[in-house]
Amino acid sequence: MKSFLTIAFLIILVAVARPQPVVAIRNVTLIDMISTAPRSGMTVIVDDGRIVGIGRSVKVSGGVTVIDGTGKFLIPGLWDMHVHALAPERAEPFFKLFIANGITGIRDMGTTADAFAMLGRLRSEIAAGKLVGPRIIAAGRIMDGARPTVPRNSIPFTGEAQARRQVRFLKRSGADFIKVYDGVSRAEYLAIVDEASKLGLALAGHVPSELTSFDASDAGQLSFEHLGNILRTCSSLDANTIEERANAVIKSSGKPNDFTAIPARIAERTKIELATFDSNKCESLYAEFVKNGTRQVPTLSTKRPLSLLDDGGFTSDPRMKYISATDVENWKPENNFFLKFRTPEFIVQKKKLYLKELELVRAMHKAGVMFLAGTDVPGAYTYPGFSLHDELELYVQNGFTPFEALQTATVGPAKFLGMEKTLGTIEKGKVADMVLLDGDPLRDISNTKRIAAVITNGRYYSRTTLDQMLSLVEDYARSH
Ligand SMILES: [Zn+2]
Repeated sequence: MKSFLTIAFLIILVAVARPQPVVAIRNVTLIDMISTAPRSGMTVIVDDGRIVGIGRSVKVSGGVTVIDGTGKFLIPGLWDMHVHALAPERAEPFFKLFIANGITGIRDMGTTADAFAMLGRLRSEIAAGKLVGPRIIAAGRIMDGARPTVPRNSIPFTGEAQARRQVRFLKRSGADFIKVYDGVSRAEYLAIVDEASKLGLALAGHVPSELTSFDASDAGQLSFEHLGNILRTCSSLDANTIEERANAVIKSSGKPNDFTAIPARIAERTKIELATFDSNKCESLYAEFVKNGTRQVPTLSTKRPLSLLDDGGFTSDPRMKYISATDVENWKPENNFFLKFRTPEFIVQKKKLYLKELELVRAMHKAGVMFLAGTDVPGAYTYPGFSLHDELELYVQNGFTPFEALQTATVGPAKFLGMEKTLGTIEKGKVADMVLLDGDPLRDISNTKRIAAVITNGRYYSRTTLDQMLSLVEDYARSH
């Protein structure tokens, strides 16, 4: 299977800048993510950023920081595979929230040119221990055709030749992969696939509206975000017919060209797609995903508040204290485009859609489709670091075993990124990214939230240090 990242890049990513004090975690229960059986009474030794010893009778010499792991559980560091954290005002508070929540790796899914230019500096400061933060892989700017949905995060282009040129430009400017979006035409998409593969860049993102999920999976797009396009592909109607029927309803409403009618149009489209769902077609789509190794990043933790907002409870989440006033303002329904103009029908259909999407997750998981945990922070009422744990809970509520849920955030991302030799499991020789828990996550997945300590790049952060980080973020949020 094609790997997501190139080898040259991996060497940079795992580089450790300076020697770390030796740490030994004693008498801990190890969940190494290789075996499904936890091993109790283990000692794990970390030296110079790496795991150098694991066993029941490894010797711990003097001058070593010894951590008592009695009654605790050790898992690999977690990845959030869908975030938007690269922004000058976001990076530092978000990074602290990630580390405080055991998220030691992130995949950034699109940012501005200016923010992307900070990436090199952020990475080296994190590797050197000057800045607290996770490993970062990043798309840079998104490819979404001539009139992108999010202009500030996108690099515009028209036609195949320009699409190819922008792929080459993104490669030169340091993009780790190419993120595609809804507005790319079929011809442009195929040009992007071809150019990216020549440059060794993988493709991830939305499935463009002109393509089916079969097309994108067969073209080699390695990750699909937000379950987008799947219901449309699984409809017994073709995409044009769905669009025509939705348009006809909107037209009869008397304001067909009004942008405020977009939520109503979405509601119509959703209603048609749900009513014409063909489960046989979807079963063969899942088989295609399995055959091609296409990963799904459903971002349920961001879909839930957006779909169930009117049920209440989301706007009074205690974790809002970590979110800057600016972001809180952006989250408010009256400032969110889709929510601002939502109609009663939109609210009903959104909820039905969410329940259907949970059903898709269960069916795909059963069919053997691979998943990667991602949150889409900072989408409305989604919290950097914290929401990844909600995402894992949602997987367990929808048919995953706790072990399988943990795979989506540990060994799954490592394999997907082609980094399984250095990350993703707890093994001798691997980079020391680990989370020490106060409860067994295989018994109850919500125990991933009970973090006793985090080790990233061999650096040990105790609960006290993590709490200090959280209160710094709280202070920052209050003043921004
Ligand atoms: Zn996103």
